[in-house]
Amino acid sequence: MRLKVQGVSFCYRSEDVVDDVSFDADEGQIVGILGPNGSGKTTLLKCLNRVLAPRLGTVFIDSIDNRDRTRKEIARQIGVVPQSANSSFPFTALDMVMMGRNPELDRFEKEKENDIQIVSKAMEMTNTAFLANRSMDQLSGGERQRVIIARALAQRPNIMLLDEPTLHLDVNHQIEILELITRLARDEKMLVIIVTHDLSLAARYCDNIILLRNGRIVSAGDVTQALTRENMAKVFSIDATIYYDERIGTHNVAIIGAIKDG
Ligand code: ADP
Repeated sequence: MRLKVQGVSFCYRSEDVVDDVSFDADEGQIVGILGPNGSGKTTLLKCLNRVLAPRLGTVFIDSIDNRDRTRKEIARQIGVVPQSANSSFPFTALDMVMMGRNPELDRFEKEKENDIQIVSKAMEMTNTAFLANRSMDQLSGGERQRVIIARALAQRPNIMLLDEPTLHLDVNHQIEILELITRLARDEKMLVIIVTHDLSLAARYCDNIILLRNGRIVSAGDVTQALTRENMAKVFSIDATIYYDERIGTHNVAIIGAIKDG
């Protein structure tokens, strides 16, 4: 499975907030989309699964233009974990995950044995089976996030899009979610695309990084190519360096300080 994004632009009003974005990504990879607030990360994510229709450009999955796929076909390809809202969910974790099967069911159709099996597998993979009968409102942030990932997995997608999946989570739960994401890429061969503004977590867990500023790609490549001192200064106005951390066996980012404007 291969995702090809070609010259995608999108505007809400007159100005493009995603501006001529192109990149390719393959199954088994974790791609991080990074940039400051308002740089167009969430909008780009929404263009990938056609929640928003790009003004220009094309998104191909396995050489098929998203425009030529039905909603149902796109849902089979792409699962989404939206930015967590603090809304209340007056239903159980099992109900929540079962909603991932909705694109496959006709209106008022009841889930079949096959759907139940897919949902069980998604809950097993995310270690949420034991939460099945608990109300979503009673779960911790990390548990709730795992259930929402399970809901996306229940669509059985090839691509997972996650918008700030670690926001509002304690640091131990952040690591737990990123390790789960790593397993989805490595073991299930999914393409995982995460939006984050956490440079350290991105350096640690992503294979490739796309750095966005004002809707445009400033740099794209593996973590050492993208997260250079120069690029981090340009995009985030910080003095920061990337280094290889022997203790964790991955790259990490040390933020030295903020760069004052002007
Ligand atoms: P990011 O995810 O990097 O914070 P967004 O994609 O959310 O950035 O936003 C990019 C730009 O588009 C911002 O200037 C934001 O104000 C604007 N924007 C986002 N959503 C809407 C909307 N629904 N209507 C109008 N403008 C929007």
